[in-house]
Amino acid sequence: MEPGTPLRSVLGDKTARVLASGLDLHTVHDLLRHYPRRYYARGELTDLRDLRPGELVTIQARVESLSGRRLRPKLHKLDVRVSDGPRQLTLTFFNKPWLENKLHPGRSALFSGKVELFKRQVQITNPEVHVGDEAEEFAGSLLPVYAATSALASWRVAQCVRMILDTLGPVPDPLPADLRRRRGLLGLREAYESVHRPADHVEERRARERLRFEEAFVLQVELARRRRAAAALPATPRPLLPGGVREAFERQLPFELTAGQRRVGSEIAADLAEHHPMHRLLQGEVGSGKTVVALQAMLSVVDTGGQAALLAPTEVLAQQHHRSITGLLGPLAERGLLGGADIGTRVVLLTGSQPAAVRRPALLDVASGEAGIVVGTHALLEEHVSFADLGLVVVDEQHRFGVEQRAALTAKGPADTRPHVLVMTATPIPRTVAMTVFGDLETSTLAELPGGRAEVATHVVPAGEKPHYLDRAWERVREEAEAGHRAYIVCPRIGDDPGSGDDSDGAGGDMAGPGEGMEPDAEGVAEAADPGARRPLAVLEIAALLRDGPLAGLAVETLHGRMPAEVKDDVMRRFAAGEVSVLVATTVVEVGVDVADATVMVVMDAERFGVSQLHQLRGRIGRGNLPGLCLLVTDAPEGTPARQRLEAVASTRDGFELSEVDLAQRREGDVLGAAQSGRRSSLRLLSVVRDADVIASAREEATAAIAVDPDLTANPALAAEVAALVEDDRADYLDKA
Ligand code: ADP
Ligand code: MG
Repeated sequence: MEPGTPLRSVLGDKTARVLASGLDLHTVHDLLRHYPRRYYARGELTDLRDLRPGELVTIQARVESLSGRRLRPKLHKLDVRVSDGPRQLTLTFFNKPWLENKLHPGRSALFSGKVELFKRQVQITNPEVHVGDEAEEFAGSLLPVYAATSALASWRVAQCVRMILDTLGPVPDPLPADLRRRRGLLGLREAYESVHRPADHVEERRARERLRFEEAFVLQVELARRRRAAAALPATPRPLLPGGVREAFERQLPFELTAGQRRVGSEIAADLAEHHPMHRLLQGEVGSGKTVVALQAMLSVVDTGGQAALLAPTEVLAQQHHRSITGLLGPLAERGLLGGADIGTRVVLLTGSQPAAVRRPALLDVASGEAGIVVGTHALLEEHVSFADLGLVVVDEQHRFGVEQRAALTAKGPADTRPHVLVMTATPIPRTVAMTVFGDLETSTLAELPGGRAEVATHVVPAGEKPHYLDRAWERVREEAEAGHRAYIVCPRIGDDPGSGDDSDGAGGDMAGPGEGMEPDAEGVAEAADPGARRPLAVLEIAALLRDGPLAGLAVETLHGRMPAEVKDDVMRRFAAGEVSVLVATTVVEVGVDVADATVMVVMDAERFGVSQLHQLRGRIGRGNLPGLCLLVTDAPEGTPARQRLEAVASTRDGFELSEVDLAQRREGDVLGAAQSGRRSSLRLLSVVRDADVIASAREEATAAIAVDPDLTANPALAAEVAALVEDDRADYLDKA
């Protein structure tokens, strides 16, 4: 029997069908990888408190009493009270009178079935029963408990596994022997044995340790392979050229680059000078000056005759990048125009909402190569957009774009080469996520901020408990506005049309990306409202309230994703210029928006936003040298997890620290972006949330292994596991970056 042997030929048609339909297990290998969920020591009773209605469970409980009676001639009902000590549970059996002779009060047995709620009591109807001597078949003192189906109880799964283990020959091991020896990891055959029928918990844990390492290793081998393959593709080198636009730009910069910017700048320059495409992730706190660094790279490409594209997630951001890049370049962005410098380039903007009359000439400039820098939204990805010589793709706020989009843009490069790729994110990424979700990218980090940064004090405002705190908040907004500064007021919802769908361009907020429940017109809010709770506060409603009340007389404007692009742009421009002093907005202001005089931010219903999202929002203030004030307004009571998250945000401005807080609160599937629950997943034991060290070691080992044997020819078992991982359509997270 081989790992690939179909279960049908070992266990028979009937059982194999149940395993296939219920648990998606088809081969010997699949079943051996179906690890026990937990173990019972013989006689150890299940904590009945943990039972949830709807769950399929296997419990070990002690029989307390039985009461059987015939309801009708053909209907016998047997109620069995079982207990875990302190708590009781009723099991109801229909037409199984013989169980009365099998279940003796005082003895414990295994029961498997679906938990139901009946008259507000949990119960299980017609569970499968496993008593006494049958249980003695289990070799060890620990009984494995498997995820089971209604058609196949846990101990039947255990029987199948036992049957296979008893007849299984040697199995090829994907972990190289020397690696196992160095790290003291069990061999695969032994690990299977120990995970399925351990003598004790020490044995079981050793097995899991080895299997967990293997999962991390296989994943990292695939990522290492991808890095290697990408590095082998041809690209046009874009070395630094003296006397070009980049040099002229650096000469005219109104500030000194920070040490970090210089370091990252040369890392990128070194990548660009290669004959293979760069794949680099640039992470840096909001305001750390990533744009300047990216612009230097774009200009290196321009100097060598190529073009650079900057892909932004929203129209607001695309417009702002366009504005700030043209601003930074000054006359260097006006080549061929009256007053333009002798050397230089053109910067064009491409967005979906542009009228044809603006768009057509822009497209021509892109196609002819006249435009050296092209800034845009998803509109850049459309088919009719073609470049003369696309040498560099910069993707801003990466987590909002999928791999398909990055691929769609890199495909616009010249036929025989690939463009270099720089991905920028302002959301600090926890180390493990960087090593998995973004595992095929090299990473650069901008840690410091130019000229330090102004203080930003953050406070939680408990509007429910202390309404006068909120009055005080509006007074502070008024004071700042009257001092000539700017204020943001952020709400979770737009509030224009409760029935319509969400077409926001700021949505999809946090690291986790899609899949977050939202109000119909909510923008980028991480959590769904509790059913029955009041609706989240809305931009349009709050703006109206403030204009007529606490902020009367101030210039208050609104900004949200459903406004036409030119209106949004106009509002942002007037806000930046100080004509508008209070902006009531959705999370469209979350990323990248840059107004130096903004000093206050009030976040309404703050508990509805994720940790990293709040951090991003807060990054909009304290950008100049004026100290900032961030107020997180919430009804969440003290001591609740929601309130604690807000306290965490208030307690630190370290984005990496907050990203770890955020990560600890997420479930695995959120992090990996794939719905893993309940389905077979290639990550069974490994947790991106908890296993940082395992992932780091596995990455080192994998990188070394791939350097020696890139095609895995020496290790067919590893090659097979990697192939299975790639085939697994649940491995979406591999493609997230
Ligand atoms: P990020 O994109 O990382 O959030 P930006 O590139 O938008 O940050 O930079 C934030 C602000 O700081 C911009 O106004 C930018 O011009 C300015 N800036 C960037 N680098 C420096 C520097 N070395 N010294 C002073 N100001 C800088
Ligand atoms: Mg930016």
